[in-house]
Amino acid sequence: MTDNSFNDEQQRYLKGVTAGLHIARGVPGMTGLTGAKHLRPDDWHAQARIRAQAAGGELTSQEQAKADLNPLDMWSHMGDLAARGEYPKGDDVFLMKGNGLFYVAPNQDSYMCRLRMPGGIFSSHQFRGVAGLAATYGGGYTHVTTRANLQIREIGAADPVNVKMGLADLGILNNGAGGDNIRNITGSPLAGIDPQEIIDVTPLARQMHHHIINHRELYGLPRKFNIAFDGGGRISALEGTNDIGFSAVLPKAGGPLPRRPYFRMGLGGITGHQDFARDTGVMLKPEECVPVAHAVLKVFLMNGDRTDRDKARLKYVLDRWGFDKFMREVQKELPFTLRWFDLKRCEARGPAVRDGHMGVHDQAQAGYHYIGVICPVGRLSVKQMQQIADIADRYGDGKIRTTVWQNFVLGYIAEADLEPAIKAIEATGLHVEASPARTGMVACTGSFGCKFGNAETKGNAMKLVEHLEAKIELDTPINLNVTGCPNSCAQHYIGDIGLLGARVDDPDAEDPEDADQVDGFHVFIGGGYDDEQGIARELAASVPASQIPAYIENVLGLYLEERKNGERFVRY
Ligand code: SF4
Repeated sequence: MTDNSFNDEQQRYLKGVTAGLHIARGVPGMTGLTGAKHLRPDDWHAQARIRAQAAGGELTSQEQAKADLNPLDMWSHMGDLAARGEYPKGDDVFLMKGNGLFYVAPNQDSYMCRLRMPGGIFSSHQFRGVAGLAATYGGGYTHVTTRANLQIREIGAADPVNVKMGLADLGILNNGAGGDNIRNITGSPLAGIDPQEIIDVTPLARQMHHHIINHRELYGLPRKFNIAFDGGGRISALEGTNDIGFSAVLPKAGGPLPRRPYFRMGLGGITGHQDFARDTGVMLKPEECVPVAHAVLKVFLMNGDRTDRDKARLKYVLDRWGFDKFMREVQKELPFTLRWFDLKRCEARGPAVRDGHMGVHDQAQAGYHYIGVICPVGRLSVKQMQQIADIADRYGDGKIRTTVWQNFVLGYIAEADLEPAIKAIEATGLHVEASPARTGMVACTGSFGCKFGNAETKGNAMKLVEHLEAKIELDTPINLNVTGCPNSCAQHYIGDIGLLGARVDDPDAEDPEDADQVDGFHVFIGGGYDDEQGIARELAASVPASQIPAYIENVLGLYLEERKNGERFVRY
């Protein structure tokens, strides 16, 4: 196996890694993936289940449910349920998640509908339309999620299909937004307008999104799956927390590769299980990313654990096999040869600006600015959404860029329009400036609307921030990640301070031996991401929610007193 674009050292490396394999050669592209045209999706999934059982395991009840009824074939069934005004029962609750519909009883006796929007970039038309759906069928508000996405909540039994039809009319296709599927494809929220970015990842996020939508065989994975594209800009896409994280890089000048954008591929990020994605050593041209992601997904689909939900994510295949074996299997699925390249021969990524997602900043296009708008705990009323869509049309480029920080960015604001645009934003009740505590706060749905939640999250997060703003003067952005259960949707392990919901004894109980259980949190400290990557350590267990504000105030006070030379929390 030779390739003229590689020097001798690379050829040796390549031979070593791929020795003994039959490598199909061909032109990289979106079609012609080995096996894709020969097997129907059901064949893949049946094979995967047979393998799991042959290995001595018993399929989980979720796997059995998926085998009995493909979630993508539920349209008529969902319509029948809606016509009868009934909510789903039993396996149907799980299967409907594959259609982006979550029946969230007992916390709320209603559906939550999660959307998909590649890169989180909505048009004003879509934003207004989603607001209209939330007003007509939902609770009159949406949540911006930690995957730069929107959720409509409090949808009644009669309306899940109406919501899905309304979304499709807006060009929002949300199949696979939940269940054992690939979740919303995230990307750098400033893609295309970031002065620092190496490459605009919007086309890649869109390609990946539509590839998934049009490949039924990529649904019904062993477990959920996250993919992100980072273009190397100011605002991190948190790609290291994804099952596949693509990170843009430039090879150093004078080396064997031309100095043009490539992507490194990291695999196995799942911070709820205390692991970041690890670099595979592979260097991809932009047009190779989607085919390689497809190959990774197929290897995972065929070999992920379908007998134990706790061990069913990609990380566990990687732990079991090691990266070398996994990548050899990926190579078998590809019609082109993977390119291996030492990360040290790439230029360092530009710094991520921790508060770059809020406030006014210059953008790549001369004379224009972007404005990051704070959206406390991600909640937006219908009225605010309509106003924001109008502001994006009037002063910007008609786009609303949601971010993994549960806020949004408006781009292409001309210098002369900055003042009126900010006034218009503030008239909605939202702000473009915020305290260092508020800037970096994210909170999952919690027990307010999620049955897994051990504690209410968004309200407690707001109380904490308001307390800190009143009591302590922070001079640096602090990430506060408040998550309701170990599923860690708000990624407590990467926060400067992470709070994990727990049931704890009521501290005000007259008889401590007979105390009721109330909301509380385990407290973690020192997590980080990107160049400050780190998994937070547990500092305290089972702190009642009522005591959290004072507790965190003390922690931050100590940090401010004891830090040396502007030391960050992650290294504290
Ligand atoms: Fe629900 Fe747990 Fe996710 Fe929070 S972390 S949204 S409580 S599953």
